[in-house]
Amino acid sequence: PPATTAANDEKLVVAVRVRPLKPDEGEKILHILDVKTIVLDDDSDKRDVLRQKRTSEKQYSFDFAFGEDSSQEQVYDLTTRGLVRDVLLGFNATVFAYGATGAGKTHTMVGTAAEPGIMVRALNDLFTSIAGNEPPHQVKLSYLELYNENIRDLLNPSAGFLELREDSGPLRSPTVSGLTEIEATSISEVMGLLLRGNKERTVEPTAANRTSSRSHALLSVTVTQSEADEKRTGRLYMLDLAGSERASVTKNRGKRLVEGAHINRSLLALGNVINALSGAGSGSRYVNYRDSKLTRLLRNALSGNCRTVMIGHVSPAAAHRDETRNTLVYASRASRI
Ligand code: ADP
Ligand code: MG
Repeated sequence: PPATTAANDEKLVVAVRVRPLKPDEGEKILHILDVKTIVLDDDSDKRDVLRQKRTSEKQYSFDFAFGEDSSQEQVYDLTTRGLVRDVLLGFNATVFAYGATGAGKTHTMVGTAAEPGIMVRALNDLFTSIAGNEPPHQVKLSYLELYNENIRDLLNPSAGFLELREDSGPLRSPTVSGLTEIEATSISEVMGLLLRGNKERTVEPTAANRTSSRSHALLSVTVTQSEADEKRTGRLYMLDLAGSERASVTKNRGKRLVEGAHINRSLLALGNVINALSGAGSGSRYVNYRDSKLTRLLRNALSGNCRTVMIGHVSPAAAHRDETRNTLVYASRASRI
């Protein structure tokens, strides 16, 4: 299918976005070959005498490849717009940003006031679509952070750590006890909530990025339409994942190293779940959601009749080659399943 169509009925859609090179970052090591393909260039480095020259370039393909000049609107339109429509029909959908610290995840998901990201655009679309509908839709938001396998309410940070309960609710859906659910009616209201919530995210300095985010942030939007005794509910999960870099890259010690282990555990579990759901591999289709809090939280969203969009993020700079390669490999594998 032509890549100019929005994310279609595929269960898992994988995109990769390259952030712009910064002025002091030197040469670029990758380029967009076509709308689906990124090429990682030769990594022979004359200054590194120990490194053997490898094959000169490698291609990675996905459903969508977004270059440095891609706009927030383009990324939203091709990845997430279709999910909003699904949610209004009563389905669950998930979009998550993956990649190393500094690769552009938060820019894509949250963005700025001038260049709003996916979270803001999706909510905007949602409010526009339901305006004037009868019976009216109800929109509820929650925004939480997962940090070292602890859950914090970004809309009410003073509440401390919250507990994840598995067996309550009619659908035995996992619920976070005490999590604030705000009924939202307008996009300006939501913008304020998001920006405030983001300021509450746990950020700690690492060698890779002084303000790197070591936490996963999960925005959950529940849309309900009630008619007589019938109730239709769809949920959209939007995730800004913690940096996927290995602990060694960030020269982490002690506390940072523990965080790295937790982050990787959640990311690994997420990858395993996505693999299993897609029926990849030779083994059983058994999906172990219990491996991490992230997958427990997302169980309902990732199982059954739902769609998932993964947006990998990479830097074009030579200094980030290893992390870029890891993300390209992870994403191209996911897109093949
Ligand atoms: P991450 O959340 O993955 O750690 P950020 O989203 O914070 O990365 O991006 C790192 C820096 O690069 C920020 O200053 C951000 O504004 C900038 N940036 C990232 N992606 C883009 C983009 N597509 N266009 C312009 N600036 C970007
Ligand atoms: Mg970030």
